[in-house]
Order: sequence, then structure tokens, then C-alpha cells
Amino acid sequence: MTYVVGVTGGIGSGKTTVTDRFAEYGIVVVDADVIARGIFTPPSAALTAVIERFGEQALTADGLLNRPWLRQRVFSSPADKAWLNQLTHPLVRTELLRQLKQADSAYVILSAPLLFENGLDQLCQRTLVVDLPETEQLQRASQRDQTSAAQIKAIMAAQWSRQQRLDKADDVIDNSGPVNALDAQIQALHARYLELASAH
Ligand code: ATP
Repeated sequence: MTYVVGVTGGIGSGKTTVTDRFAEYGIVVVDADVIARGIFTPPSAALTAVIERFGEQALTADGLLNRPWLRQRVFSSPADKAWLNQLTHPLVRTELLRQLKQADSAYVILSAPLLFENGLDQLCQRTLVVDLPETEQLQRASQRDQTSAAQIKAIMAAQWSRQQRLDKADDVIDNSGPVNALDAQIQALHARYLELASAH
């Protein structure tokens, strides 16, 4: 199987910004968030299961999944959160594995906010953390999403701490500087991953 580099980082740390750069080098990026959103696109057995459990209140007027409603619901109910995870995790994992297997670049990136928390690092030969101090995470995420600080803090509380991720990762990208400070770091890592993948 292809050499897999797992990319993770807290909310707003810059995972997408970083993985977009790797994609510019021709590296296939498999994104767990994109897959997780996709499994609710109708026609979808997962969406049907959500409607059966929560009723029409889980839908928007257009008949799509009402994501803010569901997010709120699972934040306030651990039982609903566990149920939703049981529904979605196997589906996401199956699709992740399918896309990883299909990837045809020198190595492949698996990007997931909960890479370590959900054990997806076991699918990876190497892991990379996009790192940012927590105060700046909060600032960038709230600017981007127009979400309340309280909601972002709740998401951060459900993720590993900055230190836990740093302790576990093989490599780290410092994203506390301007975006163009990423270029040299990504170039060096890309060269390293090409070497590791060819020796794999
Ligand atoms: P999430 O897990 O919440 O989806 P993410 O880790 O993928 O987030 P991005 O969406 O890449 O993070 O970045 C979060 C926000 O911060 C975006 O609006 C992005 O444009 C901005 N951003 C990323 N890197 C920098 C930087 N170095 N300087 C300033 N803003 C940045």
C-alpha cells in the first residue's frame, strides 16, 4: 500500500491550508472531514438513519442534513454523540480506505482533525501536526466560521490538547507565522516524504 502521511491539528490550525499546498505538489489528499460530510448527501442511508432517530427537525427546509442542529444536539447529549459516531465511523473508515487504496501519488496524505483521537494514525506510516497556540486557533476559527467562542472552545475541549498532539506526532509545521512562512516548511517535508516513500 502507498506510504500514508497523516495530517492533523486542532480546529482552525491550518490543516486545509497546509494540505492544499501538498496537493499543489501533486500529492493526493484524502480528507476525513470531506468524507464525513459526503456520507449525508442524499440518497444516503446515514441520513435516513438520522431522520429515523431525530425526526424532521434534523433536516433543513431543502431536505438536507441540518448540520448546525445536529452539532448542537451531540454537544448536549453524550448518548446521541455515541450513536452518531457508531453510525458514521465505519462508513467514513470504509471510504477512507477506498480512497487511500486508489491514490496514485508518490505518497498520500490522510487529513483528519481527530486522527489520533479516532486511531486513524494506525493507517499512517508517519504523522504531521499543524501547530498553533490555542488562543490563535480560537481567533482564526471564529473569524472564519462566525461561530461563537463558546462553541469553538467546546470543539477544542473534545479534541486532544496541543501538547498531546505535539508529543505524539513525528513532524510539526509551525503555522503561527504568516501563510508564506509555510512554503519552506512544506517544501522540506515534501522532499523528506518522497525519500521515505521511495524507501518504503
Ligand atoms: P478546521 O479543522 O476547523 O476545518 P483547518 O485546520 O483546516 O480548520 P484552515 O481552514 O486551513 O484550518 O485555517 C483556518 C483559518 O485560518 C482559515 O480562514 C485560513 O485561511 C486561516 N489561516 C490559515 N493559516 C493562516 C496563517 N498562517 N495566517 C493567517 N491565517 C491563516
